Amino acid sequence: MEFQRRGVMLVIASPSGAGKSSISRALFGADPNIKLSVSVTTRARRTDEVDGKHYHFIDVPTFKRMQADGELLESAEVHGNFYGTPRAHVEEQLAAGNDILFDIDYQGTLQLYRNSRKDMVTVFILPPSIKELRARLERRAQDSVGTIEKRLQNARDEMDHFHEYDYVIVNEDLEASTQRVRSILVSSRLERDRQLNLSSFVKDLQSQIDSL
Ligand code: GDP
Ligand code: ADP
Ligand code: 5GP
Repeated sequence: MEFQRRGVMLVIASPSGAGKSSISRALFGADPNIKLSVSVTTRARRTDEVDGKHYHFIDVPTFKRMQADGELLESAEVHGNFYGTPRAHVEEQLAAGNDILFDIDYQGTLQLYRNSRKDMVTVFILPPSIKELRARLERRAQDSVGTIEKRLQNARDEMDHFHEYDYVIVNEDLEASTQRVRSILVSSRLERDRQLNLSSFVKDLQSQIDSL
């Protein structure tokens, strides 16, 4: 039995290449109650990316306008590009009782904490080793050698922020890591404050006792 509930804002963050997108994709594909927050970005589209699905690819003036008009829940500059979370979609999905998955960096997480902490559950993904992290970035073959070096250096700073997250997972095996995040989500959905009609349900149980 399930009650009407408020959605969970599930944030998955990691140094680039540790596997947050792979884990997000696996979670999202298996559960119709999870919606993705599709960010806007000013970076160039990678060949395997679809506009509107992975990101909304926009130019810098459009980004600045959205930011000025308060259309972004949070925004950040990462690797020299701008990223932001459109506000409207998140608010609609939370109200509909759907969970929303955020694939954002620590700057975005900290900004979301300011207004939405009670709705959020945050997970930080670490690679098993830097050798493996580099191998994954190279295997993904999406970035130039220079970009990979920049991402590895940024990984160092990203990792400083692990203590700001509720949960930490070392992504050795993708399936096991996905299962762990799924367990976190299942528990979060059962938190008392997220279940909306508990009081009336308990009252009803009590009145059934009273009329025995
Ligand atoms: P990748 O995730 O490292 O493969 O590369 P991306 O270009 O997709 O993302 C670069 C960084 O920007 C990552 O650390 C993302 O978590 C972060 N990012 C993506 N979308 C957003 C957003 O909407 N807001 C913020 N603050 N960061 C974002
Ligand atoms: P991020 O979104 O954190 O930048 P990705 O999910 O794109 O990382 O993962 C980077 C690369 O590593 C991808 O090619 C992905 O298929 C691979 N990968 C992710 N998790 C694992 C894992 N547990 N074992 C091996 N390769 C992985
Ligand atoms: P993509 O980045 O396009 O999702 O995946 C790139 C490749 O890495 C795919 O062949 C994918 O199956 C593989 N891959 C993703 N996760 C894992 C994992 O946990 N273990 C192994 N061995 N390969 C993985």
